[in-house]
Amino acid sequence: MIRELFSFNGGVKPAYNKAPSNRQPIAEAPLSTELVIPLHQSIGGIPRPLVKAGEQVRKGQLIGGPDGNVSSAVHATTSGTVRALEMRRMPHTSGLSALCVILDPDGRDEWIDHAPIPWRTLSAGEVRNALRDAGVVGLGGAVFPSYLKINPGKQGRLDTLVINGAECEPFITCDDMQMRERPDGIIKGAAILRDLTQARQVLIGIEDNKPEAVAAMSAAVERLKAGGIADRMEVVAVPTRYPAGGAKQLIRVLTGIEVPHGKRSTDYGAQCFNTGTAHAVYDALDLGRPMVSRIVTVAGNVERPRNYEVRFGTPMRDLVALCGPRPDTDRIIMGGPMMGYRMPDDEVPVVKATNCVLVGSPALFPPPGPEMPCIRCGECARACPVDLQPFEMYWFSRAKIFGKAQEYHLFDCIECGCCAYVCPSRIPLVDYYRFAKSEIWAREQEKEAADQARQRYEFRLAREEREKQEKAAKLAAKAAETKAKLAQQEAAAAAGTGGADVATADPKKDLIAAAMARAQQQKAQVAPVNVENLAPDQQAQVAEAEARLALAAVPVESKANAE
Ligand code: SF4
Ligand code: SF4
Repeated sequence: MIRELFSFNGGVKPAYNKAPSNRQPIAEAPLSTELVIPLHQSIGGIPRPLVKAGEQVRKGQLIGGPDGNVSSAVHATTSGTVRALEMRRMPHTSGLSALCVILDPDGRDEWIDHAPIPWRTLSAGEVRNALRDAGVVGLGGAVFPSYLKINPGKQGRLDTLVINGAECEPFITCDDMQMRERPDGIIKGAAILRDLTQARQVLIGIEDNKPEAVAAMSAAVERLKAGGIADRMEVVAVPTRYPAGGAKQLIRVLTGIEVPHGKRSTDYGAQCFNTGTAHAVYDALDLGRPMVSRIVTVAGNVERPRNYEVRFGTPMRDLVALCGPRPDTDRIIMGGPMMGYRMPDDEVPVVKATNCVLVGSPALFPPPGPEMPCIRCGECARACPVDLQPFEMYWFSRAKIFGKAQEYHLFDCIECGCCAYVCPSRIPLVDYYRFAKSEIWAREQEKEAADQARQRYEFRLAREEREKQEKAAKLAAKAAETKAKLAQQEAAAAAGTGGADVATADPKKDLIAAAMARAQQQKAQVAPVNVENLAPDQQAQVAEAEARLALAAVPVESKANAE
């Protein structure tokens, strides 16, 4: 039966430029002399450092513990010595630094002891924790911690699990090559995800410009169906159109489900994982191996474009050097030409989000002509796959009227770049959206910090006021108690019932007098011992004690004279 496919609005057909990097098999990148492993490699909380300088580590050892509800662990990516924990520049266009573990490899590349995790015997929470601790995050680019996406949704089970092998961005072929060479691991990971989400069906979507990957994955599904692993799975070739690899776009193409603005696909019974993520789930659970490396495409202005299995922390310059950069190289881009970011330099490390290191030159990516005014042609809106109005978002972002930009669903923009690609005025629209988003985030963070400071101040004032009131109440209670006692003593004195004979003006003296009176009363109540009633030996003991007492009362000189 031929599956019915649907289409999404907008999209473009750029030059794909994929062939140069998918002619060679995946190779393992050599070990660099220094690895710079950032602790923050995923969306969410920054992992806590768990190692210190001078410590020996082995490959796969936890070096950053997840922190908070949204966070993912980080591991040593080879064996060696931690040289330092220090701030290093991040692979981000901002050029900002973040805390990294600097590792000197020992060359042995020695793994920690690891074993398969019996995930079928674990609860759903325990499996999620295992994936969090193995550092598994989405490898399609978003690096969202995968354990948070293993969620059957409101209905208690997913209808469709989508495995995303579309890989629509030009130049990038890492998913393509992994599907060709390692299909079984992807299918086994998809089977784990299917069982964890109780999905009714698993659809593996691959763009039809990757016939070798479609063939390899289809053969693996048939092979693994015999063992029941690939049950309810189907490989589907989808039309090649950028950005078919967007999660919502691929879900739309495969199922017809249109996920509205601001909604999650799980609310509509669908969830999407990248093929590389599925393989990482298999590595983590079936092999017990945490995430320490990924496949990275090196392409663009190089002599030998290729895909490499690269340890996280490997400097990009080492990777580029393997492929023979051409002399006119003037930039390094992480990702593809549509959604990628220009790197601040080539020293920044490969991280979990690095699907491609694209080497650029003025010839390959000529500088755009001068930016012209928007002519309101509407081309950008026709190209937008998310049905946004890019020119409105552009106007408000440029004018820094961020509230209005948000009203036009700025945060639904997936930064695919289709609008900028078709804009006849050469407006770098995505740059404006990224600027607006970062400004809004910064303002929200500032507001959050100000709110927290205000809350702390108000809390302190309330605490001081409460302490003042408590102190006043204690003093009042003490005064009332003293007053009541005095009144009692006065009443007792008036009635002649053993209270103080005469109340004085000083309440302290009265209390002392009352205490002395009580002590005398108790002494008077003790009956004197009648010695005659005692046994003879007891009488002798009493006599002896009295003699000692009498002797103790005599001055020292008298005692000497007596002797
Ligand atoms: S495509 Fe460019 S010129 Fe046309 S409406 Fe959009 S932003 Fe304006
Ligand atoms: S970058 Fe944003 S606004 Fe532009 S086409 Fe893509 S989703 Fe639409």
